[in-house]
Amino acid sequence: MGIDIDGKTRLLGLMGDPVEHTLSPVIHNTLSEILGLNNVYVPFHVKKEGLAKAVEGAFQLNILGLNVTVPHKNDVIASLSSVSDEGLAIGAVNTLVRTENGYRGYNTDMLGLTREIKSYGIELEGRKVIILGAGGASRAVAYMCMAEKASEIYILNRTLEKATEIAEHMNSFFGRQTIRAMKLSDWRELEGKYIVIQSTSIGLKPDNDRAVIEDEDFYRMIDTGVDLIYSPFETKFMKLCRRNGVNAYNGLKMLLYQGIIAYELWNDISVSEEVADQVYEVLEKNARNNTVLTGFMGCGKSTVGKSLAKATGRDFLDVDKYIVDKAGCSISRIFAEHGEEYFRALETEALNEIYNTVTGTVISTGGGLPMRKVNRDILNRLGEVVYLDVSPDCVYERLKDDTTRPLLQSENPMERIEELLGFRRPVYLDGADRTVNVSYRTVEDIIKDIID
Ligand code: NDP
Repeated sequence: MGIDIDGKTRLLGLMGDPVEHTLSPVIHNTLSEILGLNNVYVPFHVKKEGLAKAVEGAFQLNILGLNVTVPHKNDVIASLSSVSDEGLAIGAVNTLVRTENGYRGYNTDMLGLTREIKSYGIELEGRKVIILGAGGASRAVAYMCMAEKASEIYILNRTLEKATEIAEHMNSFFGRQTIRAMKLSDWRELEGKYIVIQSTSIGLKPDNDRAVIEDEDFYRMIDTGVDLIYSPFETKFMKLCRRNGVNAYNGLKMLLYQGIIAYELWNDISVSEEVADQVYEVLEKNARNNTVLTGFMGCGKSTVGKSLAKATGRDFLDVDKYIVDKAGCSISRIFAEHGEEYFRALETEALNEIYNTVTGTVISTGGGLPMRKVNRDILNRLGEVVYLDVSPDCVYERLKDDTTRPLLQSENPMERIEELLGFRRPVYLDGADRTVNVSYRTVEDIIKDIID
């Protein structure tokens, strides 16, 4: 992304502790780029003891707007000139908008979740809702359910007192007794069909295989499930919903919309759904934090992939191995018994499963996998696609003694490699975000190139 900074550039930013892993710069800088607005968004690592001074300093520096994240969402209120109704009721703000006298605080987490839910066509009015969890995010969820006039709201939490505090506070703020606090284990007392909003931290990566309620009977009481978590992309809660025929959504759109609403407030504009979709595509790639390696057989996808995963602290997944493990037999046998078309269909099926679950991973793909357009489209959303570009002679040198490659079992393997690579290379190039030359180079050298 090219940033042109000049005398009229306005600064936006995020204050938090820590802030290193934030995706907010991706949202806001992509918005500025698409909309052609002269704003730059940067993270600021602000400690608790410096918070008030940071807000005052930001105002004096003419900073246009700020986001605020953990642990300052509540404490920052004391430094603001005013706070919106929902910010006051929730007791937390995440967006500071510049006014003449100082910053005004808003809670766009709540507004973002509302916009996400509406974007899926979910109506809360008159519905029975279960909120799982009673932490910081649940307060915003509870406010949204009240503001959108859900008819009955149950906050289920491990620590009952925290759920009770939110229920009493919101019931009193809205002047009606709609929210009831319950212990997590008491869900069996409930009857009917519910929208469930999963707001606990259970299921967050690396805790992928857990849901706060695992009993399948619970999921039969649901018709819509929304998880605030977006990493993994499909949480265990979402899996349990889907297994029981329930529509389920993750929290990435909430993150997107809280950012878009903040950006709208700062710049006094309205962002169209078309632009929101474009930003979402970029955000999704970043949120997944996957690198997809494509390339011809023998280009070193597995070797490079494993080393890259290690060097960047991520997992490694080999799509071929995924298919072999699932099918319970080798690729050569699948080819021999069922033919290439059958294998290609297995690849697409595997990719769809991987798409739903995998984040923070280096993914190595089979040589022929990107030849299908449907596969290229999935790869493109899965992560950054890096094509490992290898010359035919280098492939020949590496594979000349390998008898396990079905496509190379011909009388003249070199000719076969040249023919196949000549056909595939333009397709690899077309489907890649980046190309790295890997012929006769060391793994370390290649990895350095990819990371750079
Ligand atoms: P908090 O730490 O404030 O709250 C955590 C909640 O999870 C509490 O209700 C806690 O229960 C519950 N919990 C934690 N461990 C367990 C356990 N072992 N068993 C049962 N319950 C447990 O977190 P937040 O409210 O700030 O965030 C919750 C989730 O929402 C996070 O995963 C976060 O990533 C996500 N989030 C997503 C956003 C988005 O934009 N998509 C925005 C904000 C949050 P107890 O009270 O008993 O401790």
